[in-house]
Amino acid sequence: MRRAVIVGAGVAGLTTALRLGRDGWDTVVVERAPARRTGGYVVNLIGPGYDAAERLGLLPALEARSVGPFTSVLVHPDGRPKLTVPAALTEIGRSVSVFRGDLEAVLHEAVRDHTDLRFGTTVEAGEGPEAVLSDGTTLAADLLVGADGVRSATRAAVFGDGHQVDLPYVIAAFPVADSAPHPQATTFIGPGRTAALIDLGPGRACAFFAYRCETPLEALRRGPVDALTEAFGDLGGGIPDALRHLGRDPAGAYFDAVSQVVMPRWSSGRTVLLGDAAWCVTVFAGHGAGLALAGADRLGTALREHGTDVTQALAQWETGLRPAVVRRQAQARRGMLQYAPPTRFHVWLGDLMIRAVTLPGVRGLVRRAAART
Ligand SMILES: Cc1cc2nc3c(=O)[nH]c(=O)nc-3n(C[C@H](O)[C@H](O)[C@H](O)COP(=O)(O)OP(=O)(O)OC[C@H]3O[C@@H](n4cnc5c(N)ncnc54)[C@H](O)[C@@H]3O)c2cc1C
Repeated sequence: MRRAVIVGAGVAGLTTALRLGRDGWDTVVVERAPARRTGGYVVNLIGPGYDAAERLGLLPALEARSVGPFTSVLVHPDGRPKLTVPAALTEIGRSVSVFRGDLEAVLHEAVRDHTDLRFGTTVEAGEGPEAVLSDGTTLAADLLVGADGVRSATRAAVFGDGHQVDLPYVIAAFPVADSAPHPQATTFIGPGRTAALIDLGPGRACAFFAYRCETPLEALRRGPVDALTEAFGDLGGGIPDALRHLGRDPAGAYFDAVSQVVMPRWSSGRTVLLGDAAWCVTVFAGHGAGLALAGADRLGTALREHGTDVTQALAQWETGLRPAVVRRQAQARRGMLQYAPPTRFHVWLGDLMIRAVTLPGVRGLVRRAAART
């Protein structure tokens, strides 16, 4: 039986374990964190990511945890509503939205009886045919999969440094107390920044912040409470409450600089990178989880087609997937303008486009365009 050692139990790593396990691979997943992550932010699966979830048989479990369509309210800085997009208008056919923690939970549920999942463990050395783990074991490996995220240690060890392109933005996402009478998202978009509160009921409310920042590492050093208070402390509505909530558990927040990963190749010998480790497209593209699902599914297909010729399988897999990744990375560069519009004129233009979505004639066009992505 062939064995794959997979580094990282995020969406990319767990999907790889699921897909390869179905083809009879022995899979070992090592995860640095002591336990599975929960919560997080809402991820939308559409296009290839949705198709992959369907092929992998994950849709029933994902639908059961879907956050469903919700009303979206665009607000002024003081929290007063500017315009409302009713829930029915945000439905776009073949797509599902879930908390990232729920997506990982569904994947975990699907693989846990079939894979050797080791939390609190990492790979200390390995580039096939052996992987030395931090728990003291050495495993023979036909394939080493680096699915260890945007700051991948596997990437650094095998491909060297210099593939991470840091962008002048900081993002944060964290749980908050629910308060809305019905599921809704409240979003403020101003020059250089976005603040959103997604309130889907008890235990399902989170805040999301994105802003342009010329010194993101300095912001990370200061921590989420100081950095976000400085960038968003002037806003009204539910934002002050959200920042107070953050102050009670800053360690539970997702708070990071935004970086893309751009590599000329995703594999070397029997080591392959997958997901954010290989091609992080960033939140501004909104397809990172989808690409991780699709990438792992297609990797399984290529490995099955090429039998023991792993090199050929990896080459074919990469050729097939790269155009989608290049497209999403370009989309992310446009997405920055939506999350952090450079000027008031760009904000006005964005408002106009959102307003257009509420018009009956334009609505159908937008839905069809979204379904094609
Ligand atoms: C706010 C936000 C909103 C988003 N919205 C969407 C969306 O709507 N749609 C969408 O498709 N995508 C979205 N994304 C992107 C998506 O969440 C990511 O692209 C995706 O989760 C990446 O998965 P991954 O498994 O590649 O990496 P990660 O999720 O980073 O997982 C990597 C795992 O590896 C572990 N690890 C790291 N280093 C090591 C090591 N040395 N040894 C062992 N384990 C290690 C980590 O602990 C982690 O568990 C969003 C992202 C953000 C931040």
